[in-house]
Amino acid sequence: DARTETLEFQAEARELLRLVIHSIYSNKDIFLRELISNASDALDKLRLEALRTPDLHVDASDPHILLEIDKERRTLTVRDNGIGMSRDEVVELIGTIAKSGTAELLQRLRESRDAAASQDLIGQFGVGFYASFMVADKVTLLTRRAGETQATRWESAGEGSYTIESVEDAPQGTSVTLHLKPEDKEDHLFDYADPWKIREIVRRYSDFITWPIRMAAEGQADGDAPAVETVNSMKALWARPRDEVTDAEYHEFYKHISHDWTDPLETVRLQAEGTFEYQALLFIPSHAPLDLFMREHRRGVQLYVKRVFIMDDCEALMPEYLRFVKGVVDAQDLSLNVSREILQHDRQIQLMRRRLVKKVLATVKTMLADHPDRYRTFWTEFGAAVKEGLVNDPDNRDAILDIVSFASTDDPEEVTTLRGYVERMKDGQEHVYYLTGASRSAIENSPHMEAFRAKGHEVLILTDPVDEMWVESVPEFGGKRFQSIAKGQVDLDDEDTAEADREKRREDFAPLLTWLTETLAENVKEVRLSTRLTTSPACIVGDANDITPTLERMYRAAGQ
Ligand code: ADP
Ligand code: MG
Repeated sequence: DARTETLEFQAEARELLRLVIHSIYSNKDIFLRELISNASDALDKLRLEALRTPDLHVDASDPHILLEIDKERRTLTVRDNGIGMSRDEVVELIGTIAKSGTAELLQRLRESRDAAASQDLIGQFGVGFYASFMVADKVTLLTRRAGETQATRWESAGEGSYTIESVEDAPQGTSVTLHLKPEDKEDHLFDYADPWKIREIVRRYSDFITWPIRMAAEGQADGDAPAVETVNSMKALWARPRDEVTDAEYHEFYKHISHDWTDPLETVRLQAEGTFEYQALLFIPSHAPLDLFMREHRRGVQLYVKRVFIMDDCEALMPEYLRFVKGVVDAQDLSLNVSREILQHDRQIQLMRRRLVKKVLATVKTMLADHPDRYRTFWTEFGAAVKEGLVNDPDNRDAILDIVSFASTDDPEEVTTLRGYVERMKDGQEHVYYLTGASRSAIENSPHMEAFRAKGHEVLILTDPVDEMWVESVPEFGGKRFQSIAKGQVDLDDEDTAEADREKRREDFAPLLTWLTETLAENVKEVRLSTRLTTSPACIVGDANDITPTLERMYRAAGQ
């Protein structure tokens, strides 16, 4: 039906739009990257659908993206002949934000007083289609889903509402027309009605897009049939030799696949030849996404088969604890119809995943050695996720232990690696001492800490919830066992306390201990004489096999 409706954006979408429209984000050029990226996704989806359902009436004969500029009307149109959207899909996909982390993003933006920091947040979140409103005061979207006859026209000035109507005639795919804001006379760099400017942006941000991005050729005399030319090189970066690709190109590609606006920390490449051939191009981002610790967080690696995009979020390629790694894996010998279920059980895929994981961990290890600052950023952002691997990936436990670091009593500012800790261990110290707790100050003020402080023993300060888990399953590092200073008998006595001396004290205190044990029988298992306290008169100690108070609280909170 042709009814025209005026609809409200979902509240979160409205709020995000308002922020984008009033954005002072300095690099407005990226709006085009977002639109081309959507067009490219739409062409990927079309090709896949045409391959999987050949009897569907879709036209996949000349997939491309066309950029059209109308100088007089000051419009820029990004047109694709991809999968398109149905009317319902337009309402669903453009009128709402389904991305996880949206609520948290908005909350942080509301709290943030600093405009630059807000821009960073928006950039990290990736506002996608809404980026159009940084340069346009009105956006018109016309789309027809492949295989359907009715098309849909959507229009909005970005302020609260949009109109939507069904229309009869439209080519398959989507066109997005930006009614550009008035030209900034001060700054001609921002004239998006200038073909030269648009060409430059495409080459800078979207050169590797695997579909042709076309524009009217330059220097057409009036009256000639308008010729079009392809602006991008369309070379798949992961298939090109490393020395042919600049860091800047890798970074743009990262931004394309991750929807992040900031450069990655590391680029990881892997080329495997032989019976099972594949290329991988992976990235370690420079900041954690807002939903890294939410249950629904998905993994960031895309699967291609012979340059054909197959799926996003391919969980068979990366373990959960490396879910922040982004990138592309292109396998030569898989079927285009491969499903997630098949991938999970494919032996070749499992081998591939094992190599990818080792390569990522090795990259972090190199970063730790060669770029300590970068490593610190990495660890601050992703450390808590990586530590999950100590529990879930026993095969790579040693490689993970090599790259973990912790706060420690040795230094109030710096974190330490386990190797660093072991190097500082005192002669005769047998264990790696740690204490888990809710915060650094809670741990430092714990009575358990007293004797260790007095003796000058370093203690690791473990404050992430996941620390409670891995300390239970990782027995040792470099032959030194992990020992909680809150559990069991921690023997700190060295030569200075003779065995005879201890025996004497045990006898002296025996009546008191017996009385205490009987009196407190309902609450404690045993009362022992301790050498671990210096100023506090007593402390409660867990049995070696008991769960820690923090873990107990976690279980209780989880209703167990
Ligand atoms: P994202 O690309 O991160 O999903 P966007 O805001 O860029 O977020 O786009 C939202 C959704 O709208 C896309 O996921 C896609 O489903 C749909 N969409 C946007 N542009 C197009 C297009 N040119 N063709 C088909 N669908 C599109
Ligand atoms: Mg997008």
